[in-house]
Amino acid sequence: MAIQTTNPATNQVVCSFEEMTDLAVDAAVAQATTAFDAWKTTTHAHRATLLHQVADLLRAQQEPLARLITLEMGKLLAQAKGEINLSADIFDYYAEHGAEFLADKPLHPDHGSALVRPSPVGVLLGVEPWNFPFYQVARFAAPNLMIGNVVLVKHASSVPQCGIALERLLQEAGAPVGLYTNLLLAGARATALVSDARIKGVSLTGSEAAGASVAAAAGQHLKKSVLELGGSDAFIILEDADLDQAVRWAVVGRINNNGECCVAAKRFIAVEAVADEFLAKFKTKLSQLKVGDPMDPATELGPLSSEGAAAELASQVQRAVAAGAQVLLGGHRLPGPGAFMEPTILAGLAPDNPAYREELFGPVAAFYRVPDEAAAIALANDSPFGLGGSVFTQDVARGQRVADQLDTGMVFINHPTWTQPDLPFGGTKGSGYGRELAALGIEEFVNKKLIRVS
Ligand code: NAP
Repeated sequence: MAIQTTNPATNQVVCSFEEMTDLAVDAAVAQATTAFDAWKTTTHAHRATLLHQVADLLRAQQEPLARLITLEMGKLLAQAKGEINLSADIFDYYAEHGAEFLADKPLHPDHGSALVRPSPVGVLLGVEPWNFPFYQVARFAAPNLMIGNVVLVKHASSVPQCGIALERLLQEAGAPVGLYTNLLLAGARATALVSDARIKGVSLTGSEAAGASVAAAAGQHLKKSVLELGGSDAFIILEDADLDQAVRWAVVGRINNNGECCVAAKRFIAVEAVADEFLAKFKTKLSQLKVGDPMDPATELGPLSSEGAAAELASQVQRAVAAGAQVLLGGHRLPGPGAFMEPTILAGLAPDNPAYREELFGPVAAFYRVPDEAAAIALANDSPFGLGGSVFTQDVARGQRVADQLDTGMVFINHPTWTQPDLPFGGTKGSGYGRELAALGIEEFVNKKLIRVS
């Protein structure tokens, strides 16, 4: 895949970048290794100052950075601004809480005295996707820089300018040379880099194929990996749900980020008693969405991130229909230039339909009706993914009982799966392993060193 900016609203190529040579990558890893030797000796307070400075610069540069996101991957401009703020909040969160999370943990052994001291592990590689070009990097970089680790970031080939802007911003904030390095590389070369002895761990957010490739290399070289992969979140509507609230969140949950969210609500599972009413209202709201230019504040649904992404989603819909699915709304690409897809609802997806198990990465909702709560849970769990999920009910205790039975890393009651700096984020099954954000997110690449005194 060429490293280039292509505006998905027009499919025009804006600019292209040369990949780094092997020699340049080797020099970057060497520089990161040198940076680690100094950074690991700095205090928590010193690191926190840098993180706060990054947060301040993100907020100060919100408008141009948000425009870059929208240009490169088509997110609505208002949502891109929200992403910059959220990324700043993540840097601030780890600056404020890092020292507390990383404090010595005293132990009380039978003999002697002991403590666990969270210590850095070294240079890490982050492989990041295009769908949240700043937020994904923030949740990897902020906790790890706070620990005392050093990061190399291989960003997606479709958002090179976002990757370059982040590296520049870290430099502007005062990061020493080599602390944060943006690598302009194709995906396959990122896997090869995992074998480099100077790199101590790898974190990947992206598809299962890329995750499996990186994790295999990490396993072969006995390195820790964290994987945040795809999802197909269930959105369960029980008979005692507030239906208007459920419909409102169903629309947001499906089309936020133009539908290209790992934790988007993708499978809408309504119990029979409310299925017709939910479906009618959901369909009306989706059909009224204003689709168009993501820079226009009036637009509610922008393009997919690339022509390839739109073609793939349209082909998934065609394959689903060929295998017996019904199209209740939309189902087609929109005419004209740009990677646009109509808001779509599919129903009648039998377990042997490919779309029953695939992730639908865009504004395509899969609708299911089931007899009762038990059937809703069984269907929700019948997925290779286990990222998030939601249940809508006015009985919170019931919602928690349902949450207990869902095989996912996250469950939200009366809300689509969401993210904030102080909530851990991550999945089970094919959605990966490990956690990012909150206190758990700072524990992944830490050497929990035992120090015992006799
Ligand atoms: P992708 O193709 O896997 O790309 C993600 C990153 O992996 C990119 O930097 C890509 O580089 C790199 N890559 C691709 N093939 C690779 C390989 N063989 N070895 C090493 N790196 C490789 O995924 P995507 O299509 O950009 O992103 C969408 C996927 O990410 C969806 O499945 C979505 O659900 C998932 N996602 C998950 C989370 C989460 O937190 N769980 C969050 C966001 C997205 P190139 O761009 O150079 O190919």
